[in-house]
Amino acid sequence: MTVAPASNKIPATLIPGDGIGPEIVAATMKVLDALGAPFDWDVQQGGMAGVEAAGDPLPKATLDSIRRTGLALKGPLSTPLGGGYRSATVRMREEFQLYANLRPAKTLTPGGRYEDIDLILVRENLEGLYVGFEHYIPIGSDPHAVAVSSGVNTREGSRRIVRYAFEHAVKLGRKKVTLVHKANVLKALTGIFLEAGREVAKEYEGRVACDDRIVDACAMQLVLNPYQFDVIVTTNLFGDILSDLIAGLVGGLGAAPGANIGDKAALFEAVHGSAPDIAGKGLANPTAILLAAAMMLDHVGLQNHATALRKGIDTVLNVDKVRTGDLGGTASTDSYAAALAQKVASYRA
Ligand code: NAD
Repeated sequence: MTVAPASNKIPATLIPGDGIGPEIVAATMKVLDALGAPFDWDVQQGGMAGVEAAGDPLPKATLDSIRRTGLALKGPLSTPLGGGYRSATVRMREEFQLYANLRPAKTLTPGGRYEDIDLILVRENLEGLYVGFEHYIPIGSDPHAVAVSSGVNTREGSRRIVRYAFEHAVKLGRKKVTLVHKANVLKALTGIFLEAGREVAKEYEGRVACDDRIVDACAMQLVLNPYQFDVIVTTNLFGDILSDLIAGLVGGLGAAPGANIGDKAALFEAVHGSAPDIAGKGLANPTAILLAAAMMLDHVGLQNHATALRKGIDTVLNVDKVRTGDLGGTASTDSYAAALAQKVASYRA
């Protein structure tokens, strides 16, 4: 392996995470090394591993590291139950103002419900109903008789996410952006998003087409005919739901990567969780986090590395037919990673 001099390496934070996290992250490191990806990793803890190491699912050392590198690859984190812990992933999004959540869904292995799906979902990551402005109103002896939640969408936040979606579409040569909303009922909360979105769309007229859909109709149309969509941009809650829907169109969460992007930092992760049911058994499929690593390579301008990694994954899965159990194969996490490492190394020879 040719190792770039330390000074040429890109500093990045690595959070192995919980459950299957350390296994799939180790597999990813093996493949990235074989690819010659020039990252200088600073390994930090998060989730239960963070609680064990520093009494916090998001230790200060981890935050400091991301503040320094502005770039992180993260294994799944278990959210400790009880004890008042907030999700470490949500805290990272807030701390670093990671306003755009990018979730591509692309067919990896044929034979699913649909062939050749290639969709991108851009979800607003900081506003909407996820701001957590919630409280209960007691009535009589029931302290939780009424639950109240307020959503917050700003014109600036809406413009920013829609502009991000259009810029991403331009960068990738995509043809259309669909604004997804519920402005017929949530007239203020999602009306502001639609209004700001239409305004921003005008700046891209003639370059990227724009249309819009009400979220419930969009969900049905995605299931009936996903090919009518290209890039979808939407508010936080709708984006959370629709991103799992589009992952389902390409065979589930096992191969779904995600990126959380802000102006000062970017965090790349698999969409799935820490899968405690299969942790430590060598059964986990590392493809989703490997695809997240490919997004990270794109993000730092190493498109050749990203393309080689995606091509390697495609070839190993579909030509060599080395697959983990969740994809109907018999390979272990390690043997799949070894096959992929060999493949991407061969591209460098
Ligand atoms: P999960 O995604 O961990 O698991 C759901 C099912 O999918 C399980 O049967 C699991 O074995 C399987 N699975 C998931 N990833 C797989 C992989 N790479 N290869 C093979 N099979 C895989 O969801 P869950 O069980 O609801 O959550 C478990 C924990 O993960 C919880 O503590 C939750 O809070 C956390 N979580 C973290 C993130 C994150 O860090 N981004 C996301 C979701 C859930």
